[in-house]
Amino acid sequence: MTASTQDYLKVIWTSREWHDEPISSRALAQRLGQSPSTVSETVKKLTQQGLLTHERYGDVELTEDGRRAALAMVRRHRLIETFLVDYLGYSWDEVHDEAEVLEHAVSDLFMSRLAVALGDPQRDPHGDPIPTAEGRLPELDARQLSEVDDGEHVRVVRVSDADPALLRFLTEQGIGLDVLLDVNERHPYAGTIKVTRDGEELDLGLPAAEAIWVTTR
Ligand SMILES: [Zn+2]
Repeated sequence: MTASTQDYLKVIWTSREWHDEPISSRALAQRLGQSPSTVSETVKKLTQQGLLTHERYGDVELTEDGRRAALAMVRRHRLIETFLVDYLGYSWDEVHDEAEVLEHAVSDLFMSRLAVALGDPQRDPHGDPIPTAEGRLPELDARQLSEVDDGEHVRVVRVSDADPALLRFLTEQGIGLDVLLDVNERHPYAGTIKVTRDGEELDLGLPAAEAIWVTTR
């Protein structure tokens, strides 16, 4: 399987992980930074290989084989991110791009040794669940901080790794995995939310509140 095929499958799978809507060929082209014609050609090829189904209206879905291969790549990506943070002193905003490259380069043996060395972690530095070697996904019942009501006490369990600058901002605000927050006041029309962390009040904008996933504690 080529690196490009692996990337397609992984992007399609991750697009569904937190939002229950199928990805269109057009959105896929945007995510991959490729032209629509390249994407539609590749989608056709992967469909012939039995990895994708191409639905009407341009939506793309994984077959069972496609899903298995995607989860294997997601496992690689997230274990490598964990390794970079735990062993090499990377910060959580630095690991994504590095893992994008390494995930295609290392062998299965390397990955299984790495998993053992890391103690078979269940989640990566952003709180994303790491699929097991058998392709099972640890469950994470989380919602976005932007959806939490006033007065709720929550724990941060996942932060979207899509924007490194946002991750750095959250670090400056003292927000990371397992941090406890009290939601004081939402101002949905102003696009802000006031929270307390360790007795300190913080104002978060909607983009930050949407990137932070929490559970009730
Ligand atoms: Zn991650």
